[in-house]
Amino acid sequence: MLTELSKLKQGEPLHQDLRIAGKLVGNPRRIEIRNPFNGALVGSVPKATVEDIRHAFRVARAFRSPLTRYERSRIMLRTAELLRANTDAISDLITAEAGLCKKDSLYEVGRACDVFVFAANQALVDDGQVFSCDLTPHGKQRKIYTLKEPLLGAISAITPFNHPLNQVAHKVAPSIATNNRMVLKPTEKTPLSALLLADILYEAGLPPEMFSVVTGDPAEIADEMLTNPDVDLVTFTGGVPIGKYIAGKAVYKRQVLELGGNDPIIVMEDADLDEAATLAVSGSYKNSGQRCTAIKRMIVHQAVADEFVDLLVSKTRAIKYGDPMDLHNDMGTVIDARSAAAFEAKVNDAQQRGAKLLFGNIRDGAVYSPTVLDHVPADCQLVAEETFGPVSPVIRCTDIADAIRISNSTPYGLSSSVCTNRLDYITRFVRELEVGSINVREVPGYRLELTPFGGIKDSGLGYKEGVQEAMKSFCNTKTYSLPWN
Ligand code: NAD
Repeated sequence: MLTELSKLKQGEPLHQDLRIAGKLVGNPRRIEIRNPFNGALVGSVPKATVEDIRHAFRVARAFRSPLTRYERSRIMLRTAELLRANTDAISDLITAEAGLCKKDSLYEVGRACDVFVFAANQALVDDGQVFSCDLTPHGKQRKIYTLKEPLLGAISAITPFNHPLNQVAHKVAPSIATNNRMVLKPTEKTPLSALLLADILYEAGLPPEMFSVVTGDPAEIADEMLTNPDVDLVTFTGGVPIGKYIAGKAVYKRQVLELGGNDPIIVMEDADLDEAATLAVSGSYKNSGQRCTAIKRMIVHQAVADEFVDLLVSKTRAIKYGDPMDLHNDMGTVIDARSAAAFEAKVNDAQQRGAKLLFGNIRDGAVYSPTVLDHVPADCQLVAEETFGPVSPVIRCTDIADAIRISNSTPYGLSSSVCTNRLDYITRFVRELEVGSINVREVPGYRLELTPFGGIKDSGLGYKEGVQEAMKSFCNTKTYSLPWN
């Protein structure tokens, strides 16, 4: 598929097949992928049958990878090289299928490279432990060792639309690093980047049985992804409703669920307001606001709220948005016109509940302007639920206790940003915010692709992703003891 990417520039669609253990499997029943900005046909993918899915998992389960740590590491470094060498063409594909602007899609390819480089390095690290057994009065002169092994069955992975390449990289790289076999179902909204990544991995030398990509209608195939007997673990990134459905459906399978967020930026009265407003704007509008860790609420101390809001509006005004292919734009479209209409409705509802619209709420198809509201009631739909778009709702708070109360008042607990230099505030936020991560004077989404990442409450079961943690979840730990010390 990599060689076909040039077709995009000529406006020719990319009609693709499933990749089942490296084989192309077609089906006349197709899903069309259209460019959210101009409606052009970007490509199409097959609607897999349940039998396709069963076959993919049978092959995956039966395969035992012979790859050494060195070989896995080389394949992933080669994958990163191929991604980097083709960054522009790959970012064009992401932009075409997701409507994300070129700045965002170029950044995304770079992140995916990082994922593979970290996983390549991590594959070389021995993850076994050694315990001496003569530690207590009834101890013995023995040693206990642990060994990380790939799962016996296959991994079932399901990904969302908002990072069409990087979400897939975060599933497959730890799987390869641990010698597992994975069948991935990308979202039907942006499946082409996942198919492309499969081809790049095969080209880099991955045994094709280690990674299959199936596409289709979730109503037909999603249950098979969750209940197939050859699956040992389901790793899912997406929204809370489907995450909770999976939790009830994938019975007696290990589950890693990375779900939605409602992340705040909290701005205290001592904050550098220019810095806080800059973080607020980039955290709110990057990826058209479609990041699980996008800033979805701005909780601002009342003493500095007027000044902060002025800065927020002027920095929002400077955001250029529209045609995703225009390299000058900071924001492209959201995923579809329906989502844009839903944001508009939520913003209208917030206004009826007393919020003041200060900028934006303009919609044209899937293009939705960056939007700022002040005096937003903390319990209106716009902020009580996850609003997965470029909206900056300011909620005013009276003190740190009020900020923490508002922050913890939703069912979500993914990440957060805190703008203050006061150590007493910072230690209290770290202790009392019900979230998976806290970034002081950084956006909630700040992370390395290596480091532990993931939420609590409705945002996830507490198992983290990030290359290192995902590798842990994807392994069985075998313990053995020897009579020597
Ligand atoms: P979504 O939940 O609508 O879809 C995610 C995936 O689930 C898609 O592949 C879809 O086809 C599949 N699916 C649909 N029905 C299913 C079913 N019955 N069983 C199993 N899978 C099914 O999410 P989306 O709209 O694509 O993505 C946006 C959501 O993802 C947001 O809520 C966002 O916060 C979340 N997200 C979370 C993280 C994280 O790491 N916590 C990262 C990115 C996105």
